[in-house]
Amino acid sequence: MTSLAPKTVSIVSVAIPIPVNQLFDYSVPPHIDYKQLQIGMRLRVPFGKSHKIGVLMALPALTEIESQRLKAIEAVLDTEPLLSHHDIHLLLWASRYYYHPLGEVMSAAFPVALRQGNPAQLPTVNFYRLTAQGIRTDPATLKRAPKQQQLLANVQAQALQGILEADLANLLIAPWRATLKALLDKGLLSVERQYANPVTHQQALQSPLYANTEQQQAIDQVSAALAHFRVFLLEGITGSGKTEVYMQIIQTVLTSGKQVLVLLPEITLTPQLEARFKQRFQVPIAISHSRLTDTQRQSAWLHMQQGSGKILLGTRSALFTPLKNPGLIILDEEHDSSFKQQEGFRFSARDVAIMRAKRLKIPVILGSATPSFESLENAARQRYQLLPLPTRAGQAIEPHYLILDIRNKKLQEGLSAPLVQAIKATLAKNEQVLIFLNRRGFAPTLICHSCGWVARCQRCDANLVTHYDKRLLRCHHCGYEQTLLQQCPACKKTTLTPLGLGTERIEKVLQNLFPEQRIIRLDHDTTQRKGTLEDYLGQINRHEVDIILGTQMLAKGHHFPNVTLVALLDVDSGLFSIDFHAPEKLAQLIIQVAGRAGRADKPGKVILQTRQPGHPLLLTLIREGYNRFAEVALAERKAASLPPFSHHALLRTFATDPESPLLFLQAICELIKTLPTPGVKLLGPVSAPMAKRAGRYHYQLLLQAERRVDLRALLDQVMPQIPRLRETKKIRWSLDIDPVDLY
Ligand code: ADP
Ligand code: ZN
Ligand code: ZN
Repeated sequence: MTSLAPKTVSIVSVAIPIPVNQLFDYSVPPHIDYKQLQIGMRLRVPFGKSHKIGVLMALPALTEIESQRLKAIEAVLDTEPLLSHHDIHLLLWASRYYYHPLGEVMSAAFPVALRQGNPAQLPTVNFYRLTAQGIRTDPATLKRAPKQQQLLANVQAQALQGILEADLANLLIAPWRATLKALLDKGLLSVERQYANPVTHQQALQSPLYANTEQQQAIDQVSAALAHFRVFLLEGITGSGKTEVYMQIIQTVLTSGKQVLVLLPEITLTPQLEARFKQRFQVPIAISHSRLTDTQRQSAWLHMQQGSGKILLGTRSALFTPLKNPGLIILDEEHDSSFKQQEGFRFSARDVAIMRAKRLKIPVILGSATPSFESLENAARQRYQLLPLPTRAGQAIEPHYLILDIRNKKLQEGLSAPLVQAIKATLAKNEQVLIFLNRRGFAPTLICHSCGWVARCQRCDANLVTHYDKRLLRCHHCGYEQTLLQQCPACKKTTLTPLGLGTERIEKVLQNLFPEQRIIRLDHDTTQRKGTLEDYLGQINRHEVDIILGTQMLAKGHHFPNVTLVALLDVDSGLFSIDFHAPEKLAQLIIQVAGRAGRADKPGKVILQTRQPGHPLLLTLIREGYNRFAEVALAERKAASLPPFSHHALLRTFATDPESPLLFLQAICELIKTLPTPGVKLLGPVSAPMAKRAGRYHYQLLLQAERRVDLRALLDQVMPQIPRLRETKKIRWSLDIDPVDLY
């Protein structure tokens, strides 16, 4: 063989979705045109024994890999980059900020279908159009084929040019394919492929409301800043008209041809907002959340990326959707901790959204009735611009609070007599009652009345919860379940007693007390099936229900215009938590649940049952309001140097044995001691608040610094060394930047 002159190899660096923080270099084989390659395109590359879909991140001149070991890319999946350089920079930033492997961060930006290598084409659907002959033909001429007659008549009667395949099933009783084929064969219908539009609608448009003074000020201030980056904090109690403010600003953005990204904490809030947007805007609205199919999500993503979608309404995962022409980002219910991803790539959608807006030089609006303490502090420091909406829009009146001291009071399964009275009075007026208890199941504990034995989970530091409906004992932490015991395993007596209150138990009491009334229970157990929560919400709004009982699901932004009494059965458990976030969360919960009452023209009443009627936290909140409460609590955090007056990074670890996690964290502490680390405090290692979970032992180490740069300087040095520690062998670990709970 004659030896050939060494040919220059073209190199690409690729981000691959695996938990290793590095790019992988590949060569470009001759059959692929190097010049067509652009950063942001997806590539299929060989990896180990299989292959992976990665994103092209760089076109370096050199690689450190020896040429014999350099593998070649297999295919280029895109003809254009799917991500803009803004998108890529944001993802690079997020990977560095959260110390999370770039490949996994990149992959979070794509919907599953594109991650798997699907072509980046808008999905199409079959559209059946009436032909000229189809328009002319009288359906009566088909009376010997009644189904064909019906279909033709239907398509004609709808005065549509045609019909989508998906809608056929609604028009005809199955099997309808043969009918369809017959009309196609007769030349009455023709078929074509059409893009599945994010949304089509023929609804009558609603005009904007006449904004009140505060709303107008908020609208004006944001509208004046549409060409810049700025963070606005729209603080308005429930019903103060925040959505109306969003809609009027969105209108301006749409008119200028730009797109709007709206993020919500909860899937179940999207249909409500979608419906309101559809009544207002005649533009394609794309929806993205985890209950949609992969195809639907890919479609929403591509519509926004290509610019045909104008509004994207989604949950946390929609944050990274590329926007052809971005104009505004809105994050509603910004205080909600669902905006923080709690596993894998632990990012805060709020913080990344702000970073994204900054890169794109567009405004971002954070909306809430109970803003997070960080946002309030940022507003106080003038870093965010506060837009207050202090009054309820329209006619609605703010609810009236009542602290109900239940010490030494006789309780009927958790309900005090004055509360039962108030429920009766409300029902008598034909108004709805909402009862909140943040604990599902029948009772949180099963105890033996004779010997004191308690049903514990074998795999967790937790009691098993009694579920009577399903006759089960269940662990709410690891999912373990067993059939409900009849007999005490310790003393063999049949004196097992459920102790404490859960929603299931309250439901039974309410059914006994109010046998005539319609009662609905909304918790994780009753709303598992897709669509049930939506059904229930519909029934509530149509006033087919009198009493609504539920867990924190009820605190999430739903509108219940007919509810005039809200009762929180047990606020005490939230008053004594070791996590410094707890008072903030409790206050938000109380105000949010209370916000469901008296939204329309009827005044609402909020009853808090407590054994701590003099607790300063409750009193400040109820008497002086959420903002005063936040001021007091923020002053306490400042005195204790807690976030937002310092910054946290939480190193979590677990293993199947109790020693390894501790040894791992101790090794990290030793490592840190060898480094210059001014300004960083190490808190721990300690066992996690619930040390044993699903048979694993959890430990954590909290790093705290007053200046973020100090914390980052330390992590920059420590993080690359962790994988090399031999103590990592037996454990799993993760790092949480700006943790929102210390559990
Ligand atoms: P939020 O989003 O703050 O809960 P909404 O925007 O949903 O508040 O408004 C609550 C109710 O008040 C809605 O029924 C809305 O139509 C009405 N509303 C909002 N703004 C006005 C206004 N300027 N005039 C009259 N009604 C209003
Ligand atoms: Zn016993
Ligand atoms: Zn368990």
